[in-house]
Amino acid sequence: MTEQLPGFSTLAIHAGAQPDPTTGARVTPIYQTASFVFNDADHAASLFGLQTFGNIYTRLGNPTTAVLEERVAALEGGTAAVAAASGHAAQVMAFHTLLQPGDEFIASRRLYGGSINQFTHAYKNFGWNVVWADSDDISTFERAVSPKTKAIFVESVANPGGAITDLEAVAEVARKAKVPFIVDNTLASPYLLKPIDHGADIVVHSLTKFLGGHGNSLGGIIVDAGTFDWTASGRYPLLSEPRPEYHGIKMHETFGNFAFAIAVRVLALRDLGPAISPFNSFMILTGIETLALRMQRHVDNTRAITEWLSKHPAVSWVNYASLPGDRYYNLARKYTPKGAGAVFTFGLKGGYEAGISLVSNVRLFSHLANIGDTRSLIIHPASTTHSQLTDEQKTMAGAGPDVVRLSIGIEDKEDLIADLEQALAVPY
Ligand SMILES: *Cc1c(COP(=O)(O)O)cnc(C)c1O
Repeated sequence: MTEQLPGFSTLAIHAGAQPDPTTGARVTPIYQTASFVFNDADHAASLFGLQTFGNIYTRLGNPTTAVLEERVAALEGGTAAVAAASGHAAQVMAFHTLLQPGDEFIASRRLYGGSINQFTHAYKNFGWNVVWADSDDISTFERAVSPKTKAIFVESVANPGGAITDLEAVAEVARKAKVPFIVDNTLASPYLLKPIDHGADIVVHSLTKFLGGHGNSLGGIIVDAGTFDWTASGRYPLLSEPRPEYHGIKMHETFGNFAFAIAVRVLALRDLGPAISPFNSFMILTGIETLALRMQRHVDNTRAITEWLSKHPAVSWVNYASLPGDRYYNLARKYTPKGAGAVFTFGLKGGYEAGISLVSNVRLFSHLANIGDTRSLIIHPASTTHSQLTDEQKTMAGAGPDVVRLSIGIEDKEDLIADLEQALAVPY
């Protein structure tokens, strides 16, 4: 008899977890402790020398967080994962493990605004230079490759415009350039899309969004696909050279196909310090148990609402890749056949004033800057997240005066449509 491999929903509930060996607690407990007692001096020495894996101090790892890491690695099809205090912290740790001062990485321009800020401004102080490309034109990635390129970064489904990236085409550019391909899979979640199946070497997430799913906890994670050869080029010294902080261990030689995850933990997380709280790991683990149910409801609701909005007389356009006729429709059929997520933008014929009126008059939608909650969320980027930009810059960023972004929750779709209908009917 062949053993049945567990399905997605089974992994979402069980991967990485077992009843607590000391108490029998069925749910993974919150190990709310800063540190862990060593068995004896030899045990302590072997933990610190990376000869044995185990718990030392919660900045380096924690049993509640370890279950979260194993679970997300299983859902994404990676070899290992490392959690962080936020999605942004995960990104910093991934790049810290790959880049030296003066190095470059290529990133799609179609990214979450916070990532554009992080790459443009914060990374300058580390000497890391972002070179922008456009996921709508793969040749821009090819042209951006230089001898200093160390990684390529895209979002699978881009926030906020909902652009779908042709992952296999970008993966091919990365493979030819012999650099790892990093995919931010926050908007899709592994339920809708698994980037590793399409050539990603590293997957990052803001766990704050759909994976946690309830808008109650910040978190981030890095998943190692175990696919990249860190020694081939000699250009990733943290992974291929002897590490002085660990008695000369070579990460790739010692840890093989989970070397990147180990290096992130023992070099980036240990030294930069953005550890997730065990309480947040617990909240996010609980959220992940219902990921498949929630995501299916998120995309079902989003499909109904985008269809309804695209026929509404006050609406000029709707960008949602799973709508027939959308410019990303064919890519969505290939990469996100269950649905292109639950975040999308649409345009109001009444422009800026109509946008202000809509966010002011909704009752069920919450007017705030977040996505990926059970609750439906709305924002008018031109008057909030993008208000500092000129009109021209706003339009370039997909945040023109008429643009509204929705993150559709898992309420009853009839109630969401009724709320939008009454708010669109208010005169302004
Ligand atoms: C929110 C978000 C991030 C940043 O995550 P935080 O948890 O807020 O730090 C990164 N990428 C995408 C696509 C996001 O939506």
